[in-house]
Amino acid sequence: MKITNVRLRKLTGTAECDPGFVEDRVVMPIDVYPEHRLLERAALPRVDDRHVRVEGLFIQIETDEGVSGIAGPLLGDHLGQIVVDRLAPMIAGRDPRSTELLWDQMFRQSPDGRLGDTLMAISAVDCALWDLKGKALGEPVARLLGGPTRDRVPAYASMISSSTSDLGLVRERAAEWSGKGYRAQKWFFRHGPGSGNEGIDKNVALARTLREVLGDGYDLMFDAWMSWDLPYALKMARRLEEFAPRWLEEPLMPDRLDGHAELRQHTSIPISGGEHTMTRWSFKAVAEARAMDILQPDIYWTGGISEALKIAALASAHDLQVMVHGFNNPANLHFSAAMSPSLTPLQENQVLWSPLFQHFLKEPAQSVDGDFLAPAAPGMGMELDPDKIESETVVMMGE
Ligand SMILES: [Mg+2]
Repeated sequence: MKITNVRLRKLTGTAECDPGFVEDRVVMPIDVYPEHRLLERAALPRVDDRHVRVEGLFIQIETDEGVSGIAGPLLGDHLGQIVVDRLAPMIAGRDPRSTELLWDQMFRQSPDGRLGDTLMAISAVDCALWDLKGKALGEPVARLLGGPTRDRVPAYASMISSSTSDLGLVRERAAEWSGKGYRAQKWFFRHGPGSGNEGIDKNVALARTLREVLGDGYDLMFDAWMSWDLPYALKMARRLEEFAPRWLEEPLMPDRLDGHAELRQHTSIPISGGEHTMTRWSFKAVAEARAMDILQPDIYWTGGISEALKIAALASAHDLQVMVHGFNNPANLHFSAAMSPSLTPLQENQVLWSPLFQHFLKEPAQSVDGDFLAPAAPGMGMELDPDKIESETVVMMGE
């Protein structure tokens, strides 16, 4: 089998959105600057109060045997450009089933891109190759990886873009998603060091409200999106302990490993992170610094399925858990469903965003009663739905 073409497909469509989309944004590292702190961030263009315009950039790797593999959406046109300019010429004419060989060659050919955009492009190509390999063999990727290890993978509702300041809305949303069967929720803080003591009180009020609504024993997590510094994180952790979060995510910027380790020594709250950490070597440093309890690589950013397997092995050897970041549900589900339940006990579902990320898929990976069902479709289930595509541009083709 040989790769004959790599096609970039840019799709547009109209997607139904949740009534709660979008109420607020998460705190960001740049919010230490006042001119950024008060800025709202554009979500997606509205059609009406229940619909938004969506775009999706997908890679399609085609072969001489007619079977093709799909990955996407990619996070930005620039990643598609890297696929076409740098990666497609390297994989053209090669056997797509040799995922390890092609990953190693793409990576070795990109020493200046081993983290960041080039690695994100390599990740997407790797995911498309795994989708292709599964389709060629007629098996779900979860099975090719040695799973499934269970019929259902428990999901948690990740509430990014829900309100953080209107505590009435917070109560409503938390009760709503708990009522839909989720046994765990993660909420996002809006305030960091730039917002002073008032921001700390607002963060604590959010946590208190959620614990009240969801009750003791409900798994509740918090995410600070890399936006705190160590003194602030220590102060917040002390205030949050009474609400017994299952974890506190990305309290500091990803490279501050010593800071994470120091925070861990001063709090009983497990510390997680890693969606902005890439490759096994970066995670090795995290593990050796004892910086985190839970690793959260994003399969579409950290190097693809091929690299996620290595990170999983590393985590297991260090007695750490892996709960992948919830950007691409299908890739995440095939991965999580193939790992030991003790390694990957939970999978993130961004309840407001994942239907939009997956809008163009025929069968999106969505949770049912708070669980993802082990996947059964061949490959990673990446079939595009022609009925959802309102316009399509083939951005570029490589040979
Ligand atoms: Mg996060």
